[in-house]
Amino acid sequence: MLVVHKYGGTSVGDLDRIENVANRVAKAREAGDNIVVVVSAMSGETNKLIGYADHFTSTPAKKEMDMLLSSGERVTAALLSIALQSKGFDAVAMSGRQAGIVTDNAHTYARIESIDPTAMNSAIEAGNIVVVAGFQGINKDGSVTTLGRGGSDLSAVALAGALGADQCEIYSDVDGIYTTDPRIEPNAKKLETISYDEMLELSSLGAKVLQNRSVELAKKLKVKLYAKSSFSDDIGTLITEESENMEEVLVAGVVLDKNQARVTLRGVSDRPGIAAEIFTKLANENINVDMIIQNMGTDGSTNLGFTVPQSEHENAKELMATFDHDIEGMDFDEHVCKVSVVGVGMKSHSGVAATAFTVLADANINIQMISTSEIKVSMVIDEKYGELAIRALHEAYELDK
Ligand code: ASP
Ligand code: MG
Repeated sequence: MLVVHKYGGTSVGDLDRIENVANRVAKAREAGDNIVVVVSAMSGETNKLIGYADHFTSTPAKKEMDMLLSSGERVTAALLSIALQSKGFDAVAMSGRQAGIVTDNAHTYARIESIDPTAMNSAIEAGNIVVVAGFQGINKDGSVTTLGRGGSDLSAVALAGALGADQCEIYSDVDGIYTTDPRIEPNAKKLETISYDEMLELSSLGAKVLQNRSVELAKKLKVKLYAKSSFSDDIGTLITEESENMEEVLVAGVVLDKNQARVTLRGVSDRPGIAAEIFTKLANENINVDMIIQNMGTDGSTNLGFTVPQSEHENAKELMATFDHDIEGMDFDEHVCKVSVVGVGMKSHSGVAATAFTVLADANINIQMISTSEIKVSMVIDEKYGELAIRALHEAYELDK
């Protein structure tokens, strides 16, 4: 079997931890697997390097930043390879370039365009464990590029795809994906399996475990992903294609998003083009709009509501003020949150939304906005009740069982 392992910053946070990773990789190798390891920089290292540049200017050239930041991952790759060699294993460390990773020119946020796995394949055939520095590639001019924060996950998934690996194991200090945040609900259970789409919807739960772009890529390339801990032998959570037995489980998880602010526009002119104008204005300022609700118009006007990230709340307020001819009144509330119920089972079962509304009703929580997708029901409520709602929903869908 060919397996890609990826170890995050905490897992390689100091020399003892690198040694621990070397032992784990060695064990998998001894069991007969071919292994490509992708590593992050030691925890805190990337931020430290950013701080160094900041000493000179707050606007360093992105090309130099890539030169600087890519070094963190190279240090770990070299050290892990040295550690493996010291234990008698054949290992070779590679930079992104040596691993054949070519990206576009978007320095500090590059996209992988192609991977030529020839060098990695020859090294594997020669019996080596290949250790690749994550988070980086080169562009067509040969300059080093990096893939955006958390980008080592993306490197790992992309390499697994290019190598046709049997699976990609992402190691961190968390042993998998849970039905909800265990800090909110101590009875949260670790999931054995979850679909790519559910994982993407639960991203705020998984954010610290898996980078979103990497899950999207895994879905596209059909890479079997495991979220595992480098500090335990737990099998972790498998993130994979949707299967029929996943649909038997109604709800996979419930998630709280505190970073929401609500905007309600009253008496909006009910004419073609008004929504386009409002949301283009927000888009031009790069404000990410999440939920949008519009009523049927009556007497030439309508009501329109939407949510934005809390940090954009003031910005959105200013932008909406420019529509004073078309909008009678506005109401903003930054003390809201979004609770979502996620599960592919909703596709084939009814009543999931009704249960959620009933649970909130029984807890006397008012629902301000509702939106749904094929596998998700989201509700905007008062921020004060967010955690209470999560616990009540978790219990109602028997996620603790
Ligand atoms: N070292 C990079 C970061 O801190 C990439 C990664 O760890 O995945 O964002
Ligand atoms: Mg990470």
